[in-house]
Formats: sequence, C-alpha cells, structure tokens
Amino acid sequence: MSTSDENIKIDHNIPVSSSINAVSNDVCKLAVSVDDEMKPSAEHNVLNFGIERCANCGKEGSYIDMNTCNKCKMVKYCNAACKKKHRHKHKKQCEEHIRLTTELAKLHYDKKLFKQPPPAEDCPICFQRLPTLVGSAKTMACCGKQICNGCCYAPVYDHQGNEVDEKKCPFCRSPHPTHDEATKLNMKRVELGDARAIQNLGFYYFKGLRGYPQDYNKGFELWHRAGELGNAVAYYSIGVAYDMGVGVERDEKKAVYYYELAAIGGDTTARHNLGIKEKRGGNMDRALKHYMIAVRGGNSGSLNQIQELYSLDLATKEDYTEALRAYQEYLVEIKSVQRDKAAAADEEKCRYY
Ligand SMILES: [Zn+2]
Ligand SMILES: [Zn+2]
Ligand SMILES: [Zn+2]
Ligand SMILES: [Zn+2]
Repeated sequence: MSTSDENIKIDHNIPVSSSINAVSNDVCKLAVSVDDEMKPSAEHNVLNFGIERCANCGKEGSYIDMNTCNKCKMVKYCNAACKKKHRHKHKKQCEEHIRLTTELAKLHYDKKLFKQPPPAEDCPICFQRLPTLVGSAKTMACCGKQICNGCCYAPVYDHQGNEVDEKKCPFCRSPHPTHDEATKLNMKRVELGDARAIQNLGFYYFKGLRGYPQDYNKGFELWHRAGELGNAVAYYSIGVAYDMGVGVERDEKKAVYYYELAAIGGDTTARHNLGIKEKRGGNMDRALKHYMIAVRGGNSGSLNQIQELYSLDLATKEDYTEALRAYQEYLVEIKSVQRDKAAAADEEKCRYY
C-alpha cells in the first residue's frame, strides 16, 4: 500500500500561495519558494518585516496595529472602516482561505492518523516482541514489567533438575504480591506518574474494583491523564465508553476521536474499530488503510476484514496478499517454542495469536 507516500505527496502540493499566513513559521520558507514575481497586492498580503498592506486601500501598516479578518485571519486592514468596505469583495477569498486551512489541517491529521505506529515492546526476559492479543502477556505488580505468557509459564528447576513451583516474578524474582499488596504497589506507581498504573486505577474506579468506589468521572479523569502520558489503552477505553454509552452519553463522534488517539498510539483494537466504522460509513479506502495498519500490528480480525473486502471486490488481490504477508511477518516475530508450550498447557489463558 502506498498510503503514507500518497499523503506525503498531497501534503507537498499544498503550500498554495494563498495559504501564506503571518502566524506560521513557514513564512520564510514559503516566501523563498514562491515565485519572485509574486508581488504584494491589496488582495494578497505578504509578510514583510512586520509590515502589512491593507487589503482594501493598500496603505502599509504595522502588523500588530492592524485589523484582521475575524473569519480567516489571513487579511489585514488599516481600520474597521476598511474592513467593512472590503467585506463583500473579500467574501469569496475568505471562504477559500477557510476551506484551504480546514483541508490542510485534515491532511496533517490524516498523515498522523495513517502512520504505522512502532511495534509493541519486547518481553524483557526472552527479548521477543510482545504479542498484541489481549491476555498474551502479564503485567507484574511487583516491578511493573510486561512479561509474555511463555516466560511466565516457563518452569523453574532446582539443582536436581526437578521442577519447582517458585511463585516468584520471573523478572525481578520477588514473591507474587497479594491482591491488596498489588493494589498498593499500583498506587505507588500512580504517584510516580506511571501511565499504565494510572490507566489501571482509572479502570478500578470505572468498574468499582479493588476497594475503590465506582466513579465514572474519576475513571475518565484518570484515563485522560494516562492517555496524555502516552497510554493508548486509556484512550481506547474512553472510546469504548462513548461508543457504548457507558458512564457517559453515547457519542459516535467522540468515540471515533478517542479511537483515533488510541490508534495513533498503537492500539490495534481501536484501529480495527475505526476500520469497521469507516466501512459502515462507506469509506472503503479509509477502512482498508486502518485494517492494513492493524494487521501489521497483529490484529487477525482486520485480516479477516480485508479478506472479506477482497471477496466483495472492494479490495484488490494485491491488498489481500500484502495483508497476508504482513500478518505472517508478525507471526514470525512473536512465535516461540516457549509461548507455544504455554498456550498448549493452558489454551484459554495463554493463547497469543
Ligand atoms: Zn485601509
Ligand atoms: Zn477573511
Ligand atoms: Zn518472554
Ligand atoms: Zn517483578
């Protein structure tokens, strides 16, 4: 797929002369790239050492003292009278300015939205990429590390070669804490600003777990905080709440917005959901882009979706082949003998793909 290339290309085409904006840092760059023959005119203001021309009468004035079009913020006037006089003449250009600015913002946002996020971190014990599937790794309450099921279930042997039930964290070797101790340890990490711990605490409040009273607002507040600190799951949770109308009034737009934040942060379930929503809205191109990114991140549901789109002639054979290839690549990265053993021993809890 050439999604990102495509977006970058479109983005480069955008610096249209009318998008020159005094507030933008790009002014210098734009002024250089703009044709030399382009001269400042009453219709077209170009920043020149803080001096602007009135779009109505052409008189020069200082940038800060001048009157600005309240709508597009692109055109300057020497006073309110000039602004009023010029209004009917400027109307069309003003609308064009606003249209371009909106389009540009959307392109910038899409470029960010459809960028492949980096893969999940590695398990700190076996150094293999952590699988994406929920439940394929455990977060240790003691040290806060995420350990893959393979390493969690790896047997420990004594000197005689007998398997022992050690009940210790496979990473930091401290004994597994009790429920209460784990809750306290989580709180300690919250105080240190640990995003995952804050997201956990948000979950406890949202559901009323581990001795915390059920409090949706507190849950949202904590999830927002965790999200701002880079926790994609927290944003995903907010998205689900808006999507399902739990603890808050159902709001499709907000659900999509938070799914997008989560997807940008690397959450493949949120990405998959966005694909579904775009598909429902008839935007197959955007749906496919989301699914493809989710598949690269290990989401098999999105692979099934691409297969379906292909069977309906809504995706090309190349798309489907690329999706299969990407998913295989993911499997090669996450599969291991130890993880397979864990999955075989406890299919329910240790399935990882
Ligand atoms: Zn004027
Ligand atoms: Zn305007
Ligand atoms: Zn591991
Ligand atoms: Zn530990």
